[in-house]
Amino acid sequence: MALKKFKAESKRLLDLMINSIYTNKEIFLREVISNASDAIDKLHFISLTDPNANRDFEINIEVDKNARTISISDNGIGMNSDEMESNLGTIARSGTFDFKANSDKETAETLIGQFGVGFYSCFMVASEVTVVSKKYGEENAYKWTSAGVDGYEIEPAQRDISGTTVTVKLKEDEDGARYSDYLEEYKIRELVTKYSDNIRYPIKMQVEKPSNNEKGDKKSTVVEVETLNSMIPIWKKNRKDVSDDEYFQFYQSKFYDYEKPLRIITTKVEGNVEYTALLFIPAQPPMDYYAKSYKKGLKLYSSGVLIMENCEKLLPDYLGFVRGVVDSSDLSLNISREMLQHDRQLNEIAKSLEKKILSVRGKMRDDERELYEKFFDKFGVTLKFGAYESFGLKIPDLKDLFIYYSAPEKKFVTLKEYVSAMKEGQKEIFFASGSDYPSLESLPQVSAVNKKGYSVLLLKDNVDEFVFKLMDSYDEKKVKSVSSDDLGIETEEEKKDKKKKQDKSKKLLETIKNKLSGKVEEVRLSNMLGDYAVGLSAKGELSIEMAKVLSSMPGNENIKAQYVLEINPSHKLFSLAESLLETDDEKLGRLCVLLFAEALMSVGIMPENANEFILLINEFMA
Ligand code: ADP
Repeated sequence: MALKKFKAESKRLLDLMINSIYTNKEIFLREVISNASDAIDKLHFISLTDPNANRDFEINIEVDKNARTISISDNGIGMNSDEMESNLGTIARSGTFDFKANSDKETAETLIGQFGVGFYSCFMVASEVTVVSKKYGEENAYKWTSAGVDGYEIEPAQRDISGTTVTVKLKEDEDGARYSDYLEEYKIRELVTKYSDNIRYPIKMQVEKPSNNEKGDKKSTVVEVETLNSMIPIWKKNRKDVSDDEYFQFYQSKFYDYEKPLRIITTKVEGNVEYTALLFIPAQPPMDYYAKSYKKGLKLYSSGVLIMENCEKLLPDYLGFVRGVVDSSDLSLNISREMLQHDRQLNEIAKSLEKKILSVRGKMRDDERELYEKFFDKFGVTLKFGAYESFGLKIPDLKDLFIYYSAPEKKFVTLKEYVSAMKEGQKEIFFASGSDYPSLESLPQVSAVNKKGYSVLLLKDNVDEFVFKLMDSYDEKKVKSVSSDDLGIETEEEKKDKKKKQDKSKKLLETIKNKLSGKVEEVRLSNMLGDYAVGLSAKGELSIEMAKVLSSMPGNENIKAQYVLEINPSHKLFSLAESLLETDDEKLGRLCVLLFAEALMSVGIMPENANEFILLINEFMA
């Protein structure tokens, strides 16, 4: 049989394994056992509808001290020669981590520690690895052998029932690495308990036990087969009996995330539907989370049998970042995967899970604000989309989970907190929307409102204003943009003063409107502009920010807000406009173009003709 070569990427990983100075080499056993368990899961599922596949599923560990081998056998689905070729000749998880050719030793070591890197981790302890396997339902068995980077061989072999045996021939002991430890019963027992206790199939091994010799004088032993693991899946255990580390290990190995999850949620529900769930809120959204190809979903078990790798139905889109497993004995096992999509019980579970996840979020918001802010920073937008996509249907469930950055306090508050801290007489919830906090904070309208002692919620996500629009009010307080002209916070005196100026400037405001005809719908005076000569707001349904979002979508390019040019009557340029009205109509026209461009820029929109703008600035500065 000719020696076949590994794919380049696999070769690099193998090379790393073989030369690894990683001290935690023992994880190889966990990886092999985990593969064995997955393979049994697959046959177990088939056995639900195919009685021929029915068997006592188990994993066996066998040691041969003379040959220095440890073998791990399963009676699962097995592999044929093509599968050996593609599964063992390439890295299955290469897409999961960005494995770089020049990754330094340290990265490699953390990689090994964190992911375990599967089957290849055998090569940290092995001088040779042999895999004998027979695929369920097929005639022939095959043997895959490799002594490392040079390559591997596949040849026909003998095996009775389907399944796989992985035999690891241990390297010779060297300073600091006693590979022969892995031949010892105590060590194997320790490793199985440490890493593989949750595996739901028995992991059996022949062990020596003292015999109950009647005479009692001579020490003698008998050999017995013992099951080393408790076989209780981690999600069935009591929360207090499982350490965070164990949860983390499970999370990593099932969901390939190297960062500790932000939160672990365990829940056991009895009643209408019965289920147990173990859920994880990741610390970061998965890399492809915002890509179309991302598949949300939870692993679905029925009484411990994996029936679906990724059951999408269990999570609403807006909670698609949640990972985990659900196990329910209520689910009909014989149901086909397609049928499962429509299962009534699944809907019930999904509803109950959604409620649970939201209530855990609520608790975190109240008890662990810092962690919640971290969570919201990563996943807040997704929640907001949940509120928006449901046309507001989910708003009652979600509105109290939203937090917003508030000026001038510079901290995140819930709507409830905002409302309860509202100034006496304040009737509405003020907000400003834009692209980032610093520019929002310095927005003249925001500082003007702040100066009067009112807080303003700063919205920087595209979806924010759309959600506010759907929400309309919170606790009977309407949400209101600070660029509206009727904030109701001006004193009587200010109002009178503005009215007087407005009447006096009627002609000027009309002239400006005519000069900017087609560009602005209205021109009015504003006392909220601070040092700015002009500002821009919108009238009607569509705010400036909403129009920006909508017009960025294909086909919507022409969507524009109805602009209102606001002019600061206390600014020098206003006085200039007043005098030009009497003396130089053309120059007044040019000043209007300049002021409108300024107003556009103040809300982050570039004027259409930047050169014209520059020339105008120069003219008026000179
Ligand atoms: P992973 O388990 O993350 O997919 P591995 O490198 O550990 O990656 O394994 C590669 C593939 O080899 C597995 O996905 C599986 O298809 C196959 N495999 C490994 N061990 C077994 C086994 N005991 N029985 C059947 N297939 C196996």
